[in-house]
Amino acid sequence: MSDLSRLGIGMTSQRTRERLIARLTEAGITHPDVLRVMRELPRHLFVDEALASRAYEDSPLPIGLGQTISQPYIVARMTQTLLEHGPCDTVLEVGTGSGFQTAVLAALVRRVYSIERIASLQEHAQQRLRQLKVRNVRCRYGDGFQGWPDYAPYDGILVTAAPRGVPRALAEQLAPAGCLVLPMGDGVRQVLMRVTRTAEGFDQQVLEPVSFVPLLAGVA
Ligand code: SAH
Repeated sequence: MSDLSRLGIGMTSQRTRERLIARLTEAGITHPDVLRVMRELPRHLFVDEALASRAYEDSPLPIGLGQTISQPYIVARMTQTLLEHGPCDTVLEVGTGSGFQTAVLAALVRRVYSIERIASLQEHAQQRLRQLKVRNVRCRYGDGFQGWPDYAPYDGILVTAAPRGVPRALAEQLAPAGCLVLPMGDGVRQVLMRVTRTAEGFDQQVLEPVSFVPLLAGVA
């Protein structure tokens, strides 16, 4: 059992967690590693104490400053989409937020780079990941629209806030055959998309309707 999963034991009932895993499975999450990590990770440590008892419901929860920790199904779906695409060694995440999706990725790939535009969320997430001894993540305060060129190209890029179109810098920082998973659209109608880099250019596939906070330019 990993350090992370041990921390969670006793704080919320194992039964509540199993119910969440059953729900994810019913909703189409089949990747055994994704299910294992979703079962083990203590999501209650990524939300305010007052909300900890709701941490294993399949719903987004507020994390302050108008932002939300994504719904577990969405975290699992985006992660599964990345892993199904092919070998994933390095991943860039845009929108660290609570750091929960970051921790899920860190348990499944070699190295994660994560950018957040709200300084207090960024600092808090980085501190939390350090406390939880998640060591293969590098976090940064900045505007994710620009990606993170220093460590590019990435096998996978995962965006947890919705732009109106595919940000060019992100597409350009994909490795050959890399995969970008992102929500896209305006405040009302958004879809989850998979963009893959091919020898000829990029392929786009619409996956399902979703609801995310907007990807905003610049830092806060
Ligand atoms: N994966 C996070 C989701 C948080 S919500 C979690 O589950 O906790 C989306 C996050 O994207 C917010 O924290 C928001 O501040 C951040 N964000 C929005 N636009 C951004 C940008 N241009 N660059 C980096 N982060 C951004």
